[in-house]
This record gives sequence, C-alpha cells and structure tokens, in this order.
Amino acid sequence: MEIVEKSYDFRRALTPRKRTDFLVFHHVGQMPSETVNGDVVHRWHRNRQTSSGTYWNGIGYNALILEDGTIEEGRPFDMQGAHTPGVNSVSFGVLVVGNFDEGPPKEIQVKKAIEFGRYVVEELYPGIKRIGGHGDFASSACPGEHFPLQEIKNNIRKEEEKVTEQNLSWQQEQVINQIEKLADLGYLNDPDMHKEAAKDVNDGRKVRDYVLISLIARLAERIEELC
Ligand SMILES: [Zn+2]
Repeated sequence: MEIVEKSYDFRRALTPRKRTDFLVFHHVGQMPSETVNGDVVHRWHRNRQTSSGTYWNGIGYNALILEDGTIEEGRPFDMQGAHTPGVNSVSFGVLVVGNFDEGPPKEIQVKKAIEFGRYVVEELYPGIKRIGGHGDFASSACPGEHFPLQEIKNNIRKEEEKVTEQNLSWQQEQVINQIEKLADLGYLNDPDMHKEAAKDVNDGRKVRDYVLISLIARLAERIEELC
C-alpha cells in the first residue's frame, strides 16, 4: 500500500481521535480548473471561515484518493478530522477527488478506494463498525449519486467476512468437541447441547456462552485428571 506522506501547516493543535467507528467517503463536488490534491484542499479549508469568523484549521479529510489513483495523507490518520458534522470525533474521512454528481470515479480510483479501505478497516482500525458515504451520517448529497458506494463497501468487507467464517467453523468444531467431552464426563445436564451449539454458532452472544462452556469443559477435564 503506497501512501504519499504529507505534512501540512495547521492553524491550531489537532485533537487525537479516541475511537474510530466509521469510515466515511466524500467527493469534491464542483471541480475547479486546477488539479486537486492534498495541498489544494488544505489551502481551501485553511482559508475558509465559520459564520463567527474563525478560520478553519486546515485539511479536514484524513486521506485523499486523487484522480490518477494516488493515495495521499490528509490530516494525520490518528487525528480528529473535520468532514462529517456529528461524527468527526469517531470517524476516518477519505476524499475521493472528483464530482460524482455528474459521473462515476475513474476505475483506478475505485480500485484504490477498495485497497485503501481494506487497509483502514483491517489494519489501522479493525474496530470500524460501519463504512458509508457522507450522506449516510449527515444530511448531504456527498459523495454523489454516481459514487459506487455499495460496490466499494462489499469489496472492502469481503476478505474480512471470509476470515470470520473460517473462525466460526473452527470455533464451532472446538465448542462441539468441548461440550461432548463435558457430557462424557457427566458435567452436563443436557448431553444434546452440542446440537444446539452447532445451530447457534453464528449468533455472537450465544457463541460467547458456548465458549464459556468450552472453558468450563477444559477445566472439568483437568480436574478429572487430577482426581
Ligand atoms: Zn462530504
């Protein structure tokens, strides 16, 4: 994953993000005649004023995907951005450069959005709960009706889901083995419990219960050995 490092001159100190729950995609909208990159967006944001006259701090997105597919750093990844009112303190903002009210992003941009999105949710912030566009989190038409959000979301999460399924079937086996052992040892009131476990193993809360049971089974086995 090649990410172009940048360092921007912010007006004020940045605030570290305590949590990262969301990955939010944006577009530029109406495009200027100059080529848009991180420096250009930083200049726009740094020179913008709030209604009370305070200047914005500087680039508000954490990363950018330029028109040629280059991935550039925006506001440092671990700092609170300024891109989606209401969720800035818990979200990572990515600007895909273009106006997707008018047409779709370039193929290379979609490819890079998927690659970079995977990197963000799998390596940087595995706790991310939801991937969406600006308009999913705040009142906005951003990132435009031609932005292929669903395709990008599906491809970002695909690998992660495969891993989860593998873990579950492995977990399923382990849980069932342990429950059977527990039944053999006479520590279980309902010896058919493993059948229930096999059915419920995709339910997160029940899996936790069965994992607890499997731990008890291991403990029971050890006690049996010691006696
Ligand atoms: Zn936006």
